[in-house]
Amino acid sequence: MASNNDVNTAPIARERLASACVCCGSDDLAASPAILMPFVAHRAFGWAPVEIDESWGLKTIQSGMAYSICKTLRCRKCDHLFCDIRFSDAEMNAIYAGYREEVYVALRDHYEPGYAKRNEGLVEVVSYKPAIEAFLDPYLQDPLTILDWGGDTGSNTPYEQRRTVLDIFDISGKDVVPGARVVTLEQATSAKYRLVICGQLLEHTPYPSDVLAAARKAMDAESVLYIEVPFEAIMQADVANRETVKRHWHEHVNFYTPSSMRGLLESGGFEVLDQGVLEISIGGGNARILQVACRLA
Ligand SMILES: [Zn+2]
Repeated sequence: MASNNDVNTAPIARERLASACVCCGSDDLAASPAILMPFVAHRAFGWAPVEIDESWGLKTIQSGMAYSICKTLRCRKCDHLFCDIRFSDAEMNAIYAGYREEVYVALRDHYEPGYAKRNEGLVEVVSYKPAIEAFLDPYLQDPLTILDWGGDTGSNTPYEQRRTVLDIFDISGKDVVPGARVVTLEQATSAKYRLVICGQLLEHTPYPSDVLAAARKAMDAESVLYIEVPFEAIMQADVANRETVKRHWHEHVNFYTPSSMRGLLESGGFEVLDQGVLEISIGGGNARILQVACRLA
């Protein structure tokens, strides 16, 4: 079927505080109070936690620690779980500039003691590239040109031997691996690639449908889009009223289920080719990720 890059993927309002599901657009949401973790509040807004005491002279406020509050929202239609705060482009840049580099790590270790040591495990090259390749092999054609959207340095991008092009679009501003090229949004969306990768990205993005709408522009009928997001522990369990259990939000502002991911893709004009759950080891522990391969519908 002919692809249509002008598909309307944006019925969802781009709000500071989401009032509808960012995956399926439903406004049937359950809400519960939560906090934005101090490291993220500090990076995004410059808001550090503060202790309120009697010296503040506030007649109606109790003394104690004040953190940045937010809400946990759960979509009753697709089960997506998300933070109501949706960061602006400037705030996203403030959070992710120099991602996991010196300044980032120092501030995060201040708020989350032990992070610097844990980060040494996180920056190791992922060990599951062969599993990604096995998942995607049935759908890919040569010559294999790759756009890695949010690909950081490119060290985690699969198909080191097979790829003929690796372009990376990322807001972290890092140097990339030899043979890769950093591209602007305009460059990325004016070319066509056989494989577009959004790995470990859509859990961070305020409006994932915006990323998918842009990624479409880099695709044609022979292109495959590969998406990978964490399958968070709380989403794997059969938990009633999950919004009342998820009490804090960090960099991952979207927690997906297989159904919320499918809803996001289908409303964005994609046909799901395959969807799976992969067990990986990362930072010394085990984790599960959701994998999806899709093409233009
Ligand atoms: Zn939804």
